[in-house]
Amino acid sequence: MCGIFGMIGEHATGITLQALKYLEYRGYDSAGIAIKGHNGINIYKSVGRLHNLEKNLPNGLDSSIAIGHTRWATHGAVSTDNAHPFFSPDKCFAVVHNGIIENYQTLKKQFCSRGAVFTSQTDSETVAHLLQNNYSDSVFGTVLATANSLVGSFAIAITTAYDNNLYAIKNKSPLVVGVSDNGIYLCSDIRCVSHWASKVAVTPDKTVVVVGRNGAHFYDFNGNPIMVEFFTPERAEEMEQVDGDFMLKEIYEIPSKIRLAKAGYFRDGGLKIDAERIKKLSRIYLIGCGTAYNSGLQVASVARKYLDLDILPVIASEFIYDNYPVDGNTLALFISQSGETADTISAVERVRDKGGYTYAVTNTSSSSLRFKCDGFVNIYAGGEFAVASTKAYNCQLVTLLLIILDIARIRQTVSENEYIEIVNGIDKLPVAIDQILANSYEIARIAESVKDSSAVFYIGRTTDYPTACEGSLKLKEISYIHSEAYPAGELKHGTLALMEKGVTVVAIHTCDELSDKMSSSVNEVVARGASVISVGPGELADTSIILPDVHKALYGIVSVVPLQLLAYYVAKRLGRDVDKPRNLAKSVTVE
Ligand code: GLU
Repeated sequence: MCGIFGMIGEHATGITLQALKYLEYRGYDSAGIAIKGHNGINIYKSVGRLHNLEKNLPNGLDSSIAIGHTRWATHGAVSTDNAHPFFSPDKCFAVVHNGIIENYQTLKKQFCSRGAVFTSQTDSETVAHLLQNNYSDSVFGTVLATANSLVGSFAIAITTAYDNNLYAIKNKSPLVVGVSDNGIYLCSDIRCVSHWASKVAVTPDKTVVVVGRNGAHFYDFNGNPIMVEFFTPERAEEMEQVDGDFMLKEIYEIPSKIRLAKAGYFRDGGLKIDAERIKKLSRIYLIGCGTAYNSGLQVASVARKYLDLDILPVIASEFIYDNYPVDGNTLALFISQSGETADTISAVERVRDKGGYTYAVTNTSSSSLRFKCDGFVNIYAGGEFAVASTKAYNCQLVTLLLIILDIARIRQTVSENEYIEIVNGIDKLPVAIDQILANSYEIARIAESVKDSSAVFYIGRTTDYPTACEGSLKLKEISYIHSEAYPAGELKHGTLALMEKGVTVVAIHTCDELSDKMSSSVNEVVARGASVISVGPGELADTSIILPDVHKALYGIVSVVPLQLLAYYVAKRLGRDVDKPRNLAKSVTVE
């Protein structure tokens, strides 16, 4: 999931360091930079955050050619030795890599049997050895030969002592090429590069890019030139300095982003899938990972009430390798905030191969996912910088619900009145959520009692179970407290054995008709010594977070907000780095 950046142009060193700051969300195990100057290539790297690297850099390091990297380790521990960039043994090539070289062990064995010495445990260093080994007198030929020796996913940027070009090799991991009057850029992320580039191009798979002062040229792995279209990127949202944490800022943006998600959906023309296709559908998949999967789970639980076909939320990495049925009457909605999630992108291929219709639901209109799918909708959550997703989840829910309602309308499985009631109901959500935010001090107080829990279980029934999943995921990813989500009725079939003093149970209960059942579940855990926090329109426990009234199809968009806040305040009280939790990264671009 690392971030890579490369640049030829004025102030390449400073711009590369600035870009690494924008890319740090992709990995923060270590950071490094290779700078090409008159005396050859110099590499600087440090473990930990970017500021560690910046502290260790000598003054006055400007140059016009640089490549940089922020790492999320897949192969080899988090250490300075394993930080990118890597030199070839003769120091004539330096590389940064995002992805996984799947055949690195075979390659490494071959090099080692010939006496080569590796300085790291990474898969990525193999690329530097390959480049040196393949070198004849053309760097382009060398890069092509190297590209053809690699198996796996890779976006690789290369600087060389032999000429003043940058080279890149791309397969499956994202790589954007940007151009401006000041320079030419290689980057993992379109939002990042659009801070400098006026035009960008998304590099196709199995491409080699040669970047020189006169522009960028694209070739397939046989060396044939290919045409790649440049376009004007959407203006990148500045990652402004915030007083405090991005996560809290992003939670507070939820009301305004919900308005934008709804307005954007209709402004862009709504569903945009042929009505005849919709009428013939027999199943809909909602496919995603992590929070995006939970949004699919949540919307599926509502959609089952309004649609007459199979609605199946599936985790992307499971979908790829399992045998889920797909045919011409299948619609698959692929949900990913970044639009770069490798598992989700791989799942697209399976649906396409079997003739299903693929539709991207993302926050990034120029993402790989969008370009891979037949249809696309933007969730308009704006730049999300905290690793733990919050506002994007709420916007995914709004957008997915609008999609489902439009499908139900075409299939005439929702009445016109109910359609209007729900769509208009979305307009009331920002005020409802503002009420919750206004009482966030109350949730901060509750967090004080949750922070010492030995475990936290989140329970709910039907449409509240997905909310439980998302609340639990938020808590574990940023506080590191062990947490699980269960359908409330399932507790007694095993998990009840874990209930004791010191355990907290968060009970979500927005379904009126199930409130007696939820009350029984709460009594069962209280009887075993657990503390309960209830979240719903009424009180179900001594500690209760009361939710404002909203349309029942929309409760999931609101009930998650106190859980996002709870996770945030618990993590803060435990002194965690809420924006950059350990072992994680924002955009997961490896399978
Ligand atoms: N496999 C490389 C490493 O572990 C790159 C990891 C990545 O892109 O996430 O350093």
